[in-house]
Amino acid sequence: MSKLTSFHTGGAAALLVQPNSVAAVQDILYACQAEHLRYCVVGNGSNLLVSDAGFSGVVLRIGPAMATMEDLGDGRIRCAAGASLTALCNFACRLGLSGLEFAFGIPGTAGGAAYMNAGAYGGEMKNVLTACAHVASDGNLGTFTGEALALSYRRSVYTDSDRIITGLELQLQPGDPREIRAAMDENMRKRSEKQPLEFPSAGSTFKRPQGYFAGALIEQSGLKGVTVGGAQVSEKHAGFVINTGDATTSDILALIKLIQQTVWDKFGVHLEPEVKFIGD
Ligand SMILES: Cc1cc2nc3c(=O)[nH]c(=O)nc-3n(C[C@H](O)[C@H](O)[C@H](O)COP(=O)(O)OP(=O)(O)OC[C@H]3O[C@@H](n4cnc5c(N)ncnc54)[C@H](O)[C@@H]3O)c2cc1C
Repeated sequence: MSKLTSFHTGGAAALLVQPNSVAAVQDILYACQAEHLRYCVVGNGSNLLVSDAGFSGVVLRIGPAMATMEDLGDGRIRCAAGASLTALCNFACRLGLSGLEFAFGIPGTAGGAAYMNAGAYGGEMKNVLTACAHVASDGNLGTFTGEALALSYRRSVYTDSDRIITGLELQLQPGDPREIRAAMDENMRKRSEKQPLEFPSAGSTFKRPQGYFAGALIEQSGLKGVTVGGAQVSEKHAGFVINTGDATTSDILALIKLIQQTVWDKFGVHLEPEVKFIGD
């Protein structure tokens, strides 16, 4: 799984399946049921930590094999869940549709972004996502629209559920493609300036605690640059744990625990990981 996660850590999956249609997702789930196999879902692996022991089940990767995008007219776009956010932002920009600029540079899939209600620079998926199609663990198809998507800070109706998102519908607003492109480029520039993009990571390691910024608390705890094995609190942005080259998932988890304990002791604030963990 180290090849499929942005942290570049994690052991092997027993089986990796990359479905190319909703029917294929259903077939895989029927097979998992029949064979009593555990499964988990990954997108682009950019918010994931996978155990060094790997995952002794089926990993369904909803990625490039399910990545179609469609202009529905009136500012509406439909895409398959494996479409990359970058491709989706470029698609919207070409159509002169505004609202997704915030997502440019978030290295996930559309499905992962819906699951996480990904957000940045004052925007979030909640502002543009109108519907998600999914396959439930028994293979049945379903859809959530509007309020039923239950989108809140880095959460959705899909968080901690075993449904697999297969498609999204977004509502965007007409805009000038040049202005949209300029806003996207500006967001990317800010990312490169502030974030340690030269190292493997999963972005912000922790959620923003109410009333604070995780990075500031970590920095004020004197943890910038602290390492456990190959894992390090980034010197550039203390909110990022990075892999300096030979980190294991155990190193990263131990550093996460150390950060949580230190910040708790100093400020009495609990830092909740934003990064998701899968594996044995
Ligand atoms: C350098 C960097 C910068 C980042 N910046 C931001 C940022 O600004 N804002 C932000 O919100 N995030 C950011 N992230 C985190 C990450 O990119 C987002 O959370 C992204 O939405 C995750 O998408 P993914 O496809 O990689 O999901 P994954 O990491 O593969 O999975 C994340 C979770 O979603 C679930 N999931 C994924 N796809 C599906 C699906 N089709 N159906 C059901 N469940 C699914 C997984 O099971 C897992 O629980 C950053 C990450 C990096 C590495």
